[in-house]
Amino acid sequence: MPGTAISALAEELVRVVGKKYVLSTPSSLALYECDAETMDVARPDLVVLPRSTLEVQRVVELANKFSVPFTARGAATGLSGGATTIYGGLSIVLTRMNRILSIDPKDMVAQAEAGVTNLAVSHAAAPYGLYFAPDPSSQSASTIGGNLAENSGGPHTLKYGMTVHHVLSTKVVLPDGSLTVFGGRAKDKISLDLLGLMVGSEGTLGIATEASVRLLPKSRFVETMLAYFPSVATGGQAVSDIVAHGVVPAAMEMIDSVTLNAVEDYLHMGLNRAAGCLLVVELDGPSESIHVQRQIVELVAKENAALSLNWAKDEKERALIWKARKTSFGALGRIAPHGYVLDGVIPRSKLKEAIERIAEIGEKHKLTIANVYHAGDGNLHPCLLYHRENEDEVQRVMLAGRQILELCVDLGGTLSGEHGIGIEKVHEMPMAFSAHDLEAMTWIKKAFDPRSICNPGKIIPQLKSCGESGMRPLLRHKLLTGC
Ligand SMILES: Cc1cc2nc3c(=O)[nH]c(=O)nc-3n(C[C@H](O)[C@H](O)[C@H](O)COP(=O)(O)OP(=O)(O)OC[C@H]3O[C@@H](n4cnc5c(N)ncnc54)[C@H](O)[C@@H]3O)c2cc1C
Repeated sequence: MPGTAISALAEELVRVVGKKYVLSTPSSLALYECDAETMDVARPDLVVLPRSTLEVQRVVELANKFSVPFTARGAATGLSGGATTIYGGLSIVLTRMNRILSIDPKDMVAQAEAGVTNLAVSHAAAPYGLYFAPDPSSQSASTIGGNLAENSGGPHTLKYGMTVHHVLSTKVVLPDGSLTVFGGRAKDKISLDLLGLMVGSEGTLGIATEASVRLLPKSRFVETMLAYFPSVATGGQAVSDIVAHGVVPAAMEMIDSVTLNAVEDYLHMGLNRAAGCLLVVELDGPSESIHVQRQIVELVAKENAALSLNWAKDEKERALIWKARKTSFGALGRIAPHGYVLDGVIPRSKLKEAIERIAEIGEKHKLTIANVYHAGDGNLHPCLLYHRENEDEVQRVMLAGRQILELCVDLGGTLSGEHGIGIEKVHEMPMAFSAHDLEAMTWIKKAFDPRSICNPGKIIPQLKSCGESGMRPLLRHKLLTGC
């Protein structure tokens, strides 16, 4: 990016948001060079933190004026490099837009700015007995804008669906700076589903500045079980069998022995270190129905050689079980400083086969792979542990990651269940999509963003060579393409 354009842009941005909220020193920019996918690092030329939709509009207009690419950024918990500014340019950080605008308990709707955290919405709705159902494990930090852009899910997606099922409307600043609203509070099926298009578009079609989301009543009856199995294969079979018996739990989450031991090292909560895997099953709904489902779950667990099973006696025990699951990735930091978390999806019935073949891939590449599964919906999170300084190990991690994604597609699944494509899986898109599919995606991108200025280089693979693309040198590209 020419230095003169950046300096001129910085001057004008200061007039819009104030000096304090335009960052340009190398040390301040360093904090914004990646998201939670730390393999791909590219520093922005400038960071700007607007406080209102109007300021976001002015910022985007200025980016257009100076032909500087821009990328929206929430809490940067993304795991596919979506918020990483791979062409440099402007990082537009929305975390100052953190106001909850309204909670309407009658219509069960919350309206919030894009930088509000997921959990803050549920906290604001709690006095009315309501909550926001999508619950990514990052929910205390990740923002509504990021959730919407990634179409995030969570442990309770199995029963309650993804973010797309809970967003009613969103205010969007389009790539040219104009403002629009997709969706509405009333049911509307009379036009193109532009809201559906926006959700999951990873910040490539515009910047969401506000959203109205559906709230659900909290279930009065919840039962949470923690069970141990001798192996992930037996635990995985239990998961398949529970659903095959007609039970749809609110959540069914599994962690393998590597993860289980890391969590126990961290929390000291008395987990069974000798078990092959730990399975959490949560049931909710009317008490009579839970009672029947509980019997089926216990029966199936025993049929699949469960080593032991316990139901949480109270809210405190239930919270502890969830703490074990939700701190899994953090706990893995005790084993290696870096972890590459994959997000492939497979049909639930293929869980056992997938687990066995992922272990083979790990052995072949001499890598430790820890596994965390949203087992109920076949969403796998193998975490490949590595040291970033060890280039040989990084290369093996990437090769193994690619083979695991190939395996997911091969088993009838796909590349991502919830973390998105970003830059991380852009090279793998042709595994899952034909040239025609990718061309159709390109048309949509061009219709919204003809100048390719809004979060360029994400999701859709580009055919340009490294030299002509202007993309910052990324370790991933270097290792996969040799340039
Ligand atoms: C420990 C951990 C656990 C996680 N668990 C889950 C999980 O259970 N389920 C799950 O789905 N994900 C999970 N994630 C991934 C991540 O938290 C989600 O993708 C989350 O929605 C990202 O939100 P964010 O605010 O951090 O967005 P960012 O990381 O800042 O951005 C993500 C993408 O959204 C775009 N974006 C951000 N804000 C906007 C906006 N206002 N308008 C348009 N585009 C925008 C960015 O450009 C980028 O492409 C986890 C991550 C971590 C680190």
